[in-house]
Amino acid sequence: MSLPISLIEAIVGEQNFLRSPEELYCYSSDASKMRFIPEGVAFPADSAQISALVTLANERRFAIYPRGSGSGMVGGCLARGGVVVVTNRLNRIVEIDSDNMTAVVEPGVITGQFQKAVSKYGLFYPPDPASLAFSTMGGNVAMCSGGPRAVKYGVTRDYLLGLEMVLPTGEIIKTGTRTMKGVVGYDMTRLMTGSEGTLGIFTKILVRLIPEPQSIRTLSAIFFKLDLAVSAILGILKARIIPSTIELMDQATLCAVENHLATGLPVDAEAMVLIEVDGPDKVLDDEAARIYEICKKAGAARVETARTKEDRELLWRARRSISPALGRIRRGKLNEDVTVPRSKIPELIRSIRKLAEKHDLPIVCFGHAGDGNIHTNIMLDRKDEKERRRAAKAVEELFAIVLGLGGTISGEHGVGIAKSPFIEQEIGPGGLEAMRRIKRALDPLDIMNPGKMFVPDRTFLDGDFV
Ligand SMILES: Cc1cc2nc3c(=O)[nH]c(=O)nc-3n(C[C@H](O)[C@H](O)[C@H](O)COP(=O)(O)OP(=O)(O)OC[C@H]3O[C@@H](n4cnc5c(N)ncnc54)[C@H](O)[C@@H]3O)c2cc1C
Repeated sequence: MSLPISLIEAIVGEQNFLRSPEELYCYSSDASKMRFIPEGVAFPADSAQISALVTLANERRFAIYPRGSGSGMVGGCLARGGVVVVTNRLNRIVEIDSDNMTAVVEPGVITGQFQKAVSKYGLFYPPDPASLAFSTMGGNVAMCSGGPRAVKYGVTRDYLLGLEMVLPTGEIIKTGTRTMKGVVGYDMTRLMTGSEGTLGIFTKILVRLIPEPQSIRTLSAIFFKLDLAVSAILGILKARIIPSTIELMDQATLCAVENHLATGLPVDAEAMVLIEVDGPDKVLDDEAARIYEICKKAGAARVETARTKEDRELLWRARRSISPALGRIRRGKLNEDVTVPRSKIPELIRSIRKLAEKHDLPIVCFGHAGDGNIHTNIMLDRKDEKERRRAAKAVEELFAIVLGLGGTISGEHGVGIAKSPFIEQEIGPGGLEAMRRIKRALDPLDIMNPGKMFVPDRTFLDGDFV
């Protein structure tokens, strides 16, 4: 059925509804690099307009696809026809309540900008996806995003108190409470967090904040054996120090970065670990010294402690250079954010090395070792049909390995389209059917972000890319 264009324009205004092929093209992809062309792109101004659009979508049977900044890695905001609803006009920080340490934001607020705004009050919003300079709070809630700080501070869900949202049938509801406690009814906020735009569109987000940590100390350690690196990480946690970040780069990553930066990284080492602790100045020097000793005792060949801001930037340089460095190996990659219990990291990386050999593809592993979240980048040339097929097979085998180790196929990127063929393997047919029932109950006409999560789709593995 064709779109009721004049009715949509009457809701959002003619200037806020795009339909030309060039404009649609601009909203046809995300960081997954898959491409699907929508029929229209709407920029509503508030929840009333979103509600009216969604109500119209139910009456006239067209699909709605919520979209923030389009930085998602799994194609979650991509539209096959229908209307993309972009939230960037809902971009106000509505309130920062310093006394109660809470804040209300609209979904189009950029996460990093929100963090800067609360920092002026000495407050801290910890979730730190690496995309925080451009991803939106709405997208972060929809994907339950997390980042390096998750090991100490948790992820987006841990800071959410409540939501205002437009349900797939058009009603506007509120979930949660402003108080730290609240047990009235089902925990709808938790259900909606990570729902990937399939259960409605968030229009206001109520979060809790914590005091901003006073200082940070950063250390990096080089290990010639991966097992030693992981035993150092476990040792730090056993010493009951919870770093705010524990990042690991495997040997393939070190080689790629050294090839790119040529700063003398030890390419014969199996792992480099970057550790940060944050908190009051007076405890940090002691914690940093203890971490130094633990790494040394575990067998680190070299441990460096940053003394200045510049030192810290230098230690982070290798980690921050991974993306451009990988581009020199192959133009394409399948970036899988698999997560295993921390102690299983060596087993995971050893199995991945075997996969790389078996499928004759470079596989580069790095990531948030503190929470077992290892970004596994299967490098490929997508134009090479054989490589593409081998990479798809490697992904399937990787997921089987990760589930066998008691892990999850996605620690932070979500399911979207990319992981839709594998969701059942992790949660089982019963779990999947329960989720489908929730979806059907709230979205009987399958208006809201259809074709995601529950519908196996192999485009990410087999399809054409941008
Ligand atoms: C370089 C880079 C680094 C990244 N690093 C991380 C990382 O460290 N950790 C991490 O977790 N992710 C990371 N990501 C992935 C991505 O940035 C996150 O998933 C982010 O939360 C997406 O936000 P967005 O605004 O771009 O959402 P989009 O990509 O536009 O949408 C993502 C999903 O959210 C839904 N959605 C968007 N807004 C709303 C709303 N208001 N209501 C309901 N549903 C909505 C969409 O339908 C879609 O399903 C990274 C991506 C890139 C490109």
